[in-house]
Amino acid sequence: MNLKKFTVGIGNVNCYVVTDEEGTGIIVDPGGGKEIILDYIEQEELNIKAIILTHCHYDHILAVEDLQQELHLPVWIHEAGQEGLLKPELNLSISRSVPSMSIAADKILQDGEELKVGQLKLEIIHTPGHTLGGICIKIDDVLLTGDTLFKGSVGRTDLVGGSYQQLADSITEKVLNLDAQLVVYPGHLGQSTLEVERKRNPKVRAMLRK
Ligand SMILES: [Zn+2]
Ligand SMILES: [Zn+2]
Repeated sequence: MNLKKFTVGIGNVNCYVVTDEEGTGIIVDPGGGKEIILDYIEQEELNIKAIILTHCHYDHILAVEDLQQELHLPVWIHEAGQEGLLKPELNLSISRSVPSMSIAADKILQDGEELKVGQLKLEIIHTPGHTLGGICIKIDDVLLTGDTLFKGSVGRTDLVGGSYQQLADSITEKVLNLDAQLVVYPGHLGQSTLEVERKRNPKVRAMLRK
């Protein structure tokens, strides 16, 4: 597996291009950086099959339509995120200094679903709390956590569809039940492991104390 990270767009979102040994794979959260992502795909001669979104927020989806136009890629999102992708008031594009966005999902993902893209095995873990349809995506020893879990912090829960209790349940009952050695690649800032976050992340520790 090969994982390439691009930090892109007005939200400094981590967009990941994840591919198997033959170059077949996915783009996760293209929140900008259309040109650098396309250059990378062309240079490496990658065969990208889909855009997967960890959640519907505007800063994670800004380059979705551009990439769709160029590469004719389907967009995958969790069932509970598809309405947010369609509605600018839910993906927040209506209230930010970006074009208003309404994007139709092509494939709806379910909690626990396992998908194969080339040789990549993806597992979808529904982790609501930051948004209704937030997911983490497990691929081999990697966990893409979107805005659910960050290095040293967790996603905010004060935006539309957010819930602290749901986020705490998602993190303590689902994410932390996964293999502690998984490498966490969040939607913003640097990477970590589940083991380190369980021990040192003050927000996670507060969730575990309750
Ligand atoms: Zn978000
Ligand atoms: Zn974000």
